[in-house]
Amino acid sequence: MANHSLDPKVSPHDDFLDKISFRELFDAAVEAMVLVDAAGHIVMANCAAQRVFEYTLDEMLGLEIEALVPERYREHHRKYRKLYLAEPYQRSMGSTRELMLLKHDGQEMAMRASLSPINVETETCILVTISTLNRRDEAERTLQASEERFRLIQQAADAGVFDIDCANNRVYCDRRMCELLNNGTEEIMALEKFFAAIHPDDRVRFRVIFDDVVNMSAGNTCRGEFRVMQQPDHRERWIATLGQAQFENGRTKRIVGIARDITERKLLEKALQQQRSEIETLFSQQVAVITASAIAHEINSPLTAVAAYSDVAHRALSYRPIEKVKAQEALEGCIQQALQAGRKLHELIEFLQKREIQTEELSLNRIIEDALLQLHSDGYGSFHLTLDLEPDLPLIRANKIQVQKVLVNLIKNSVQAMRIENIDHSEIAIILKTLPGENMAIVTIRDNGPGIDEKTISHIFDPFFTTKPTGFGVGLSISRALIEANGGQLWIDPDFREGAQFHFTLPYAS
Ligand code: ADP
Repeated sequence: MANHSLDPKVSPHDDFLDKISFRELFDAAVEAMVLVDAAGHIVMANCAAQRVFEYTLDEMLGLEIEALVPERYREHHRKYRKLYLAEPYQRSMGSTRELMLLKHDGQEMAMRASLSPINVETETCILVTISTLNRRDEAERTLQASEERFRLIQQAADAGVFDIDCANNRVYCDRRMCELLNNGTEEIMALEKFFAAIHPDDRVRFRVIFDDVVNMSAGNTCRGEFRVMQQPDHRERWIATLGQAQFENGRTKRIVGIARDITERKLLEKALQQQRSEIETLFSQQVAVITASAIAHEINSPLTAVAAYSDVAHRALSYRPIEKVKAQEALEGCIQQALQAGRKLHELIEFLQKREIQTEELSLNRIIEDALLQLHSDGYGSFHLTLDLEPDLPLIRANKIQVQKVLVNLIKNSVQAMRIENIDHSEIAIILKTLPGENMAIVTIRDNGPGIDEKTISHIFDPFFTTKPTGFGVGLSISRALIEANGGQLWIDPDFREGAQFHFTLPYAS
């Protein structure tokens, strides 16, 4: 690049200029100025420069320019100076990146500088004009720094940014957000297009959360995990969003938020969830096998005896004349053995029920929260939840794992029933109250699924009763047994018609 040395034109004021020395002009400038030679030494410094850097002229002359630069930038600055001298041109420093310079006493100052090459005979010198930053510059610089910080955080978190203008139904999406939504590089889109990018199965849920925020019925933060469709292979991608609403004159003005790709986490969760449900099925099968073996063991010998007595009775009755006494004795034996089998079964059940369970004082709210988390991670979290919790509900006394298991079973059943019926807007309500007149809590789980018809309802608590192709039919019978073991009861509301409604009770701790 060519040097931009001064090329003074002949002007009528030349005489006048002859009367002023260059030194005087240099010293009259408000801005600090130093002239640096090709070797990097200061060969001139005006009064303003001496004032700003608090050096005397003698101290400044001959000083390497890097003496005015903080130690940590010096090496870089020397290299940069050499590069600049190879191709000098007029430019500024410190407008985009922070330029720190040093006073004589070592104090650092944020400054802005401009560099102009000046040809002095065969040598190229650099005239450095230095100005301190004014308030606006400072504010600009702070803003730039904070934007840069934000950009780095965003990059590190691999997050996309969206900004929904609720008044005009338009959404600004940054490049990363557009990538996540698979909308190319478009940056401002109609709200409907933003919604359309969400997977059809999650769109209603997304819309419900959005409407809650817009109608100001859900606080000012909204978060959720949704699927988006990837074109062209329609691969599913999961994103987690976190939005913050801003209100103005009692209306939601905008929702600003970020979204992150959580597909990997979701795939891992799905694999774990599958593994868990396989283990659970295996476990249920094992429990069934062990229970059946225990029952067989207990009633096998009475049954064998019943068969033998029956054979004797049969034969005694076939003789002519009938051996009445023998037949009577044999039938008496049958009765005794059958009663014995019944007693043994009762003993077995009593033994199993006698097992002590560990109970503790618990907050039902807390157990519900944990159950919801588990459902979420098991892939059963996509429904609209209504929580109706009585304030200041006393603590219950129960076994936490067992109560959580019951909640998970009931809610899973609801979600499965609604999925089988392809219910668009699946809703589950959990209601927590005190059972009137009792020292007990009553928990109600209600869904808007298909419900249970009259014929089926009388069997649902029977072990191994199921209407699902891969069901095991033990969830409800185990849930009932668990609630009873904790001192409560579990039942279904037979009159509820808008879905299914289960209730269970648990005793308060005090
Ligand atoms: P499984 O879930 O393995 O079938 P369960 O004992 O948990 O075993 O449930 C038994 C049956 O009760 C289910 O197969 C289903 O027919 C019925 N059921 C349970 N909960 C619901 C519900 N919320 N809505 C409709 N049907 C239900």
